[in-house]
Amino acid sequence: MRLIDEVGNAASVAVSGHIRPDGDCVGSVMGLYLYLKKEMPEAEIDVYLDKPAEIFDCISHIEDIKLEFNTDKIYDVFIALDCADDRLGNARPLFEKAHKRINIDHHISNQGCGDVRIIEPDRSSTAELLYDLMAPEMLDVEIATALYIGIIHDTGVLRYSNTSPRTLQVASELIKFGFDFSDIIQKTFYEKTYVQTQIMGRAVLESVRFMHNRCIVSMVSRRMMDFYQVTPQDLDGIVNQLLSVKGVECAIFMYETGTLEYKVSMRSGGKVDVAAVAMRFGGGGHVRAAGCTMNGTYHDNINNLSIGIAEQLDLA
Ligand code: AMP
Ligand code: MN
Ligand code: MN
Repeated sequence: MRLIDEVGNAASVAVSGHIRPDGDCVGSVMGLYLYLKKEMPEAEIDVYLDKPAEIFDCISHIEDIKLEFNTDKIYDVFIALDCADDRLGNARPLFEKAHKRINIDHHISNQGCGDVRIIEPDRSSTAELLYDLMAPEMLDVEIATALYIGIIHDTGVLRYSNTSPRTLQVASELIKFGFDFSDIIQKTFYEKTYVQTQIMGRAVLESVRFMHNRCIVSMVSRRMMDFYQVTPQDLDGIVNQLLSVKGVECAIFMYETGTLEYKVSMRSGGKVDVAAVAMRFGGGGHVRAAGCTMNGTYHDNINNLSIGIAEQLDLA
């Protein structure tokens, strides 16, 4: 299947992704935006997203993202990537009003939304899935760079178990365009600012293991974020660092988003299905990486999450 068959001869197309966009979200949204501009030069193509982290400034035309906009506009086609409509944030009304709504995602927790639903949970990333929906002859170095960033961010640089033979084939096709992939991996994935490193150190230092050391949890409060002058985007990678502790099967990281409100990220080594745990609290994700937003104190949230985790570890 080719995406262009679904987009047809639309005069206006918009692309968006989820709130607090991660690398796959930014890479796939920008990759598709650049692709559609090339495939449909006569059409009006727009891109909506929360402001991406500065590390993604290497993606061509990232400044085209519309941050402030009128939600009354009616597009012929609106494409929601890497999420269902409930995580589109401010762009959601535009999706709902569009004449044709297309949803492309790889989250197992997403039932799909809109008129055309392309949901493939076996895909490492939305970027990998998009590659197979694009006409290869229309790709260029800018589109390839964006898609490659999407793939490496959702696979931990082709390392997580969601990496399939197809993922590696797609990555191999993409690097043929000649961009400096080594530099991109370093600058967008591994490199951290000083304060990002400090807050990660603090979160690791204050982490606590429980359930016979098979789980680990840590938290960053609003006060800590103020102290280190960091934003939620600066907290990426902390939960993965916690999971790398020997013997840990499930890592939980939370940061305070409001009074008695936390954004929760979970990672699993494979034994625990963290998407199932997150779905109990209105969130979702993948078996080994999932998230949700929870209301309550830090300790209440740990207790509530622990019930679902303990059942899966046969500790309930
Ligand atoms: P995070 O821990 O926020 O990096 O998210 C891990 C994975 O779960 C990513 O694939 C997210 O897109 C997904 N995810 C996080 N929060 C939610 C949520 N509230 N609903 C659905 N999926 C989520
Ligand atoms: Mn994502
Ligand atoms: Mn993704």
